[in-house]
Amino acid sequence: LVARTEEIQKKRSQLPIFSEEMNIVEAINDNLVTIVCGETGSGKTTQIPQFLYEAGYASDGQMIGITEPRRVAAVSMAERVGEELNRPDIVSYQIRYEGNRSEKTKILFMTDGVLLKELETDMMLNKYSAIIIDEAHERSMYSDVLLGMLSRIVPLRQKSAKPLRLVVMSATLRLDDFTHPRLFLTPPKVLKVDARQFPVTVHFERHTPTDYMAAAFRKVCSIHEKLPKGAILVFVTGQREVQQLVNKLTRRYEMKFEETKLGEKLIVGGKKWKQKKKEETKDFTLEKFKDEIEREEMKIDGKDLDEKGLVEDMWSDCEEDEEEQDLEENLGVSSLGPPPSGCEPLYCLPLYSLLSTEKQKRVFEKPPEGVRLCVVSTNVAETSLTIPGVKYVIDCGFEKRRLYDPVTGVSKFAICRTSQASADQRAGRAGRVSAGHAYRLFSSAVFQDLPKFAEPEIVTKPVDQLVLNLKAINIVKVVNFPFPTPPSAESVEKAEERLLKLGALERTTKNGKTEARINSLGRSLSAFPLAPEYAKMLVMANQHGLLPYVILLIAALSVREPLIPVSSVRGETSEETKAKMTSLLVQRKQWCGKGVSRRLGDVKVLMQALHNCDRQNNSQKACETNFTRPTAAKEARRLRQQLTNLVNGLCKPSQQVLLDPQMDEPTDSQSNLIRQILVACLCNRIAKRVNPSSCTEEVPKGAYHCQHLEQNGKQQMRTVCGVDAEWLPRLAESFCSFSEQNQDDQPEYDAQRDEIVRPVDCWFGPRK
Ligand code: ADP
Ligand code: MG
Repeated sequence: LVARTEEIQKKRSQLPIFSEEMNIVEAINDNLVTIVCGETGSGKTTQIPQFLYEAGYASDGQMIGITEPRRVAAVSMAERVGEELNRPDIVSYQIRYEGNRSEKTKILFMTDGVLLKELETDMMLNKYSAIIIDEAHERSMYSDVLLGMLSRIVPLRQKSAKPLRLVVMSATLRLDDFTHPRLFLTPPKVLKVDARQFPVTVHFERHTPTDYMAAAFRKVCSIHEKLPKGAILVFVTGQREVQQLVNKLTRRYEMKFEETKLGEKLIVGGKKWKQKKKEETKDFTLEKFKDEIEREEMKIDGKDLDEKGLVEDMWSDCEEDEEEQDLEENLGVSSLGPPPSGCEPLYCLPLYSLLSTEKQKRVFEKPPEGVRLCVVSTNVAETSLTIPGVKYVIDCGFEKRRLYDPVTGVSKFAICRTSQASADQRAGRAGRVSAGHAYRLFSSAVFQDLPKFAEPEIVTKPVDQLVLNLKAINIVKVVNFPFPTPPSAESVEKAEERLLKLGALERTTKNGKTEARINSLGRSLSAFPLAPEYAKMLVMANQHGLLPYVILLIAALSVREPLIPVSSVRGETSEETKAKMTSLLVQRKQWCGKGVSRRLGDVKVLMQALHNCDRQNNSQKACETNFTRPTAAKEARRLRQQLTNLVNGLCKPSQQVLLDPQMDEPTDSQSNLIRQILVACLCNRIAKRVNPSSCTEEVPKGAYHCQHLEQNGKQQMRTVCGVDAEWLPRLAESFCSFSEQNQDDQPEYDAQRDEIVRPVDCWFGPRK
């Protein structure tokens, strides 16, 4: 039935899971719930769906569904399995906004949120004969919820003609989380797949270095220059760090790619070592400015794009960075001296979730002869993707995490220490082909202090959308749901409060008990795979014929730092700086418009800037003249398209909207409506920026002091760090810097202090 190529068949037969096929299929046949544990790379994700397919699970018009916590895994694994089966037509993927599912689909890879959504229309998941929850140990919010749901659905389906099988796949670590009786009443069958694992020697630093990027760079150099053959895998925290390190390494161990007649790439190792001239010391203000840019860039980089669903390579058009030079200093390149003669080239590849599937594939290919492979990766290589041939692992000991303030729902990205489990998982990547070495760029004392496991997502994130989704499938008492780890009662309560305020829930009293139940607005909102407040913006926009504007606005508010802040604009001289800043301010003031439309303030500026760029294909030039970040502009464009598709998929044909590149400016009455929509939907996130001198607390540098406005008139003071808090300050800045200012309150640039002097006391919201 299945005609695999010889090459694929050979590769499969080398996987540890291959010889377990019979046992696995038997266990799944005989048990309602089976847990399969195995090291990353043992073949769980690619093989188990094929085992089930060949065992006839998709023969009865039903499908085999596999959920992934990450989009990148859903897309790339669907492609890989299609290729292995030699039937790309029957293996599909479905992620938040897109997919290639068809009538023919037999194996469907999807993100966990997608399957949860399906439960609303198909409570018993009758389309599926088996559901595989992959990477369950990652404890993503939706995979946790799915486990809770499925623990109840599976016994119910048992009574029907077509039972449902559940397979939970996990790394060995957190088994107890899934076997306690609160979740599965009958204990699930547990299977362990032993991966061939060679011993890995773990090396700690005697002292934890202050700069892990510099330490990582030096470690790669010393391994490459001194130690025997074997690929190197480096873990850093984000896309930007990956690219920085790859750039540095590529520059040190230069490699030339030549096109041959056949179009193949031939590699010539050419090691040129150029002594870099030390830059003359720059004046103080410029240094400070560079610092600032660095911080700005960090903000953009921090974005968790997986969540936004953009699986594209944002670095393909990445320019050489201005601060490269500084970085070179920081990485201590000059102290290293030239690489030894006869040192072989280093074939350095980046890996992160946004990298195009095409480029991700390069890590699976055999590296060219006579070079050493070095992959610099974010934690996608920790579990989802496996790189063959790794002998050395370098672990910076950090990862990027999104941290939430459960009260305001404001999030920020922070670089945090990993858990011990992650560190062990990372180290384990070194022992797949032979005995390996893991270099941890921190001391063993630091390791001892790490938490054993990372906390499950559900206890660290606001649960608004989750609560709404659960209520939409008639789970009223969210706290009673069989979560593997329940969210705190407080965070559920806060989420309910916010949803009540949004109008998505209503309080009803039954038999003396008050409950918050979903209403019809809530049901409409839960149909969108979006945060409830954005969904409400779309619903309201639809009622007023404002969809194209509001879609643009949501896209603009969803990307990180689209506008270049006035304070980051600099020229060569202070005159030039002043001129540039002035032109930016004049431009933005003009976009603010006059009269009523002015009340949209920086929201209008945001929309206008991105729309202008979009109209000119987001070219470098267009972004420059509109003081917009190119990566953000391009991303906003993709989100706009995705949201447009999404809305069109949900609307009646007569209400379809177009992504109109020639969209007119909103009229006064439209501006007023957009403003009202914003206030109604983002009621939890509106803030007033206040003068720091009127505050009792100390305001940290780069922070805004915001007065948080509650809809019921109560006010709450909060200090929000402008450097990394994502939402509040941006809105605060948006609404405050232009909207309600006096026409003649021209913001000014004070050259002496090298900063913008502008009024800070202004309001967004109804004036008293
Ligand atoms: P697990 O889910 O147990 O971590 P996988 O099924 O993802 O393991 O991977 C099994 C093997 O298949 C790995 O060794 C990996 O290198 C290989 N593999 C996965 N995806 C691809 C791909 N796109 N191209 C080539 N090899 C791949
Ligand atoms: Mg896997």
